[in-house]
Amino acid sequence: MAGKIKVGVLGATGMVGQRYIKLLEDHPWFEVTYVAASPRSAGQLYKDAVANRWLIGAEIPSGVQNLMVEDANLAEKAIGKCQFVFSALELPKKEDIKNLEAAYAAEGIPVVSNASANRWTEDVPMLVPEINYSHLDVIADQKKHHGWDKGFIAVKPNCSLQTYMMPIHALIQAGYEIKRMVVTTLQATSGAGYPGVPSFDMIDNIVPFIGGEEEKTEKECLKILGTVKDGKIENAAGPIVSSTCTRVPVIDGHTACVSLEFGDKKPSMEEIEKIWTSYTSVPQELKLPSAPEHPIVVRHEENRPQPRRDRETEKGMACVIGRLRPCNVFDIKFVALSHNTKRGAALGGILNAELLKAKGFFDNL
Ligand code: NAP
Repeated sequence: MAGKIKVGVLGATGMVGQRYIKLLEDHPWFEVTYVAASPRSAGQLYKDAVANRWLIGAEIPSGVQNLMVEDANLAEKAIGKCQFVFSALELPKKEDIKNLEAAYAAEGIPVVSNASANRWTEDVPMLVPEINYSHLDVIADQKKHHGWDKGFIAVKPNCSLQTYMMPIHALIQAGYEIKRMVVTTLQATSGAGYPGVPSFDMIDNIVPFIGGEEEKTEKECLKILGTVKDGKIENAAGPIVSSTCTRVPVIDGHTACVSLEFGDKKPSMEEIEKIWTSYTSVPQELKLPSAPEHPIVVRHEENRPQPRRDRETEKGMACVIGRLRPCNVFDIKFVALSHNTKRGAALGGILNAELLKAKGFFDNL
């Protein structure tokens, strides 16, 4: 283990926290040395705290089983035990998560977060490493604004956006303006955490509402596609997005049905497919350990992508697209899929941390 960066997981007992624990088991750069959760779990060994709710289909990593769970509300407890933290906390009030993440940063512990509390903080980058790696530039301003020396906060967007933002970005980067977009998501139950949506609501059913999700879907893409200016991230002007977000009886894997309207310049179907299949970016150039070789995978079968068959593509880090075809209302439509607790949550967070490490943000910890 010598030479690895010591990391903590806040919310380690939850749905996303458990994914972090498992995915970091053999990570080449990071080693879990600190776990924290609510006061309900604090004071127990990790293996006891999750005994009846370990949801990942494999053993709890031996290096973490006997770590003592600490109270995540006490940032000072982490000092000296880990060099940065992944935050997978879910607290009743967003403001409490915001304050808590700032408390860790103020203690000199960088926070790589999955929570939504800081997504709209204008000097906090909301990263999809393939798309907006340049937003890392705002971290220097963030540290300056708060007077933080080593600590800072970087977040990832809502899990459902990961399903279609890379194909959108690939088209924009190739010179095709996207004016309007209609998205209908079919989101997995694991996206609601554990125990999540009651089984009585989920079995033999679809729930056509996820609180706050449509607002996130419609707004977050503008920050992701924005630019760093005057010490903050300035949102992109478009596209205009209209979304409907639904919860479906699938364990893992969010699906999105997307229709796009281009500006005056419209690509052919062949060109779109070429743009998507050749899409690579900085994580691939840097060969980051969790970066998929092919971030966008296009399938040609008429009935794909499907969550059960396609969510593990590129170890759960790909955006899998199928059913690309003309749209009678807009220009094109397609179906996209990604793994919500891997690309959309823990492995996406790990990729963010790998990018931060590769760009020197953990050098002085
Ligand atoms: P979850 O299963 O409900 O887990 C929540 C975690 O927060 C648990 O470890 C819990 O500890 C801890 N916690 C709860 N109340 C606390 C308190 N008062 N003080 C300190 N810790 C407390 O939620 P999740 O699905 O893993 O989501 C975690 C975060 O990731 C959320 O912010 C969510 O929005 C975000 N996210 C989730 C997904 C997904 O697919 N699930 C995707 C992207 C982002 P105890 O076990 O001790 O209660």
